[in-house]
Amino acid sequence: MQKIAIVGGGISGLSLAFYLQDKYEVSVFEKEKWGGKAYTQKVKDYLLEEGVNGFLNNAPKTLELCEEIGIEVIKANENSKIRYIYDDKLIRIPTKPVEFLKSDILSFWGKLRVAMEFFVEPICDREESVEEFANRRFGREFTRRMMVPMLAGIYASTPSKTSMNAAFPKLKKIECEYGSLFKGMMKLKRGGQPSGELCSFEWGMSEFIEKLKSSTKANFIKKEIKSLDELRDFDKIVIATPSFEAAKILGGEIGKLLEKIEYNPVAIVGFDFDEIKPVSFGILSVKEKSLGILMDKYIFPNRNAVRVMVGGARYPEVKDLSEEEIIEIAKEDVKKITKASFPKFTWIKVHKNAIPNYSLGHRELVEKIFEKASDMGIYLTGNAYKGVSFNDCIKNSYELAKKIKEEDG
Ligand SMILES: Cc1cc2nc3c(=O)[nH]c(=O)nc-3n(C[C@H](O)[C@H](O)[C@H](O)COP(=O)(O)OP(=O)(O)OC[C@H]3O[C@@H](n4cnc5c(N)ncnc54)[C@H](O)[C@@H]3O)c2cc1C
Repeated sequence: MQKIAIVGGGISGLSLAFYLQDKYEVSVFEKEKWGGKAYTQKVKDYLLEEGVNGFLNNAPKTLELCEEIGIEVIKANENSKIRYIYDDKLIRIPTKPVEFLKSDILSFWGKLRVAMEFFVEPICDREESVEEFANRRFGREFTRRMMVPMLAGIYASTPSKTSMNAAFPKLKKIECEYGSLFKGMMKLKRGGQPSGELCSFEWGMSEFIEKLKSSTKANFIKKEIKSLDELRDFDKIVIATPSFEAAKILGGEIGKLLEKIEYNPVAIVGFDFDEIKPVSFGILSVKEKSLGILMDKYIFPNRNAVRVMVGGARYPEVKDLSEEEIIEIAKEDVKKITKASFPKFTWIKVHKNAIPNYSLGHRELVEKIFEKASDMGIYLTGNAYKGVSFNDCIKNSYELAKKIKEEDG
């Protein structure tokens, strides 16, 4: 049996090990914690996600994997459909066209500008930022009230710093195929609703990680890999670490390319208050240092806290602050946004390099990196390249496993 080394025990590396176990002798190397950014802390009565909060149940590979390892997926309750933005005041995000017309999320002129989307010419011959795309198709008001919070929530980034083509390739494809997103959505009968419901596991993401590990026949080794030399006894090598870590292991020209993928820092601050409102999925902000407040305690069982995300591309200075300073920022923002104060429980986790930023040129950069990796006879996977979400990581690892097996015939 060929021996395969996987460096990185996050969801990308672990799911890859699961998919390869039938044909290879697999070893997974992890320098810190199994699960990486998918890790749940249990502190007193509180279940706190250090990173991944949940995933949408619209990705077949994730659901299949859950079934194969025998873990029950739980859906967030009805509160998860109630979402707010904060732009000097709380505004509920409408989910249906009729609600949108009645909502004060946009002014009358802002709504009219959104309706003009039907008539905006598509741009398909060049890359553009999310800001350029959204301003052009829906108007600046829409960008501020919808895209700024959305980018903060998914990528911890901003519309100006994110490539539309790399971060939302499906929407770009709809624009180019149908001439307009509205026309495309109507043909595809999506009606603007998010496809998929938010899901997690009863005891958080670590429950899934443990189940995945125990369902995988592999050598799980706690060790930091510093260079390829350490892996010379293996027939195949996959690097499933963040790209800046892959750069250190691989060095040379590919290392320089990998270093170009920037990461946004995010601190997660957990609080519990006697009372915090509104009961909802949470609130994403438009300009605060706190990107959003996730009301975990209202949407999943066994969670008794809320979590505040501080920093991102909007406030990268967060990575140079002390934990106490970050907690103060989060406390102030929560008080301003929800009026809740004097938390009875406080917790913090700082990710200095939390989420890769898919900047302009990301796709070309990734193509070059993959070409170089292929020349070197190694494989890369992970959220730095072709999708940041938990679902993307599983799908990409599934596809990589398929490719590796096919190459071996
Ligand atoms: C705060 C936060 C919230 C998020 N929320 C969500 C969410 O709600 N939904 C969602 O879909 N996605 C979310 N994400 C995105 C999420 O990070 C990815 O979906 C996924 O967890 C990334 O997995 P990965 O395995 O690619 O990388 P990682 O989880 O980063 O795993 C890489 C692993 O490699 C290890 N490693 C690094 N260098 C070495 C080395 N030299 N030797 C050995 N091991 C090494 C690391 O220790 C780490 O465990 C969130 C991310 C963050 C940071």
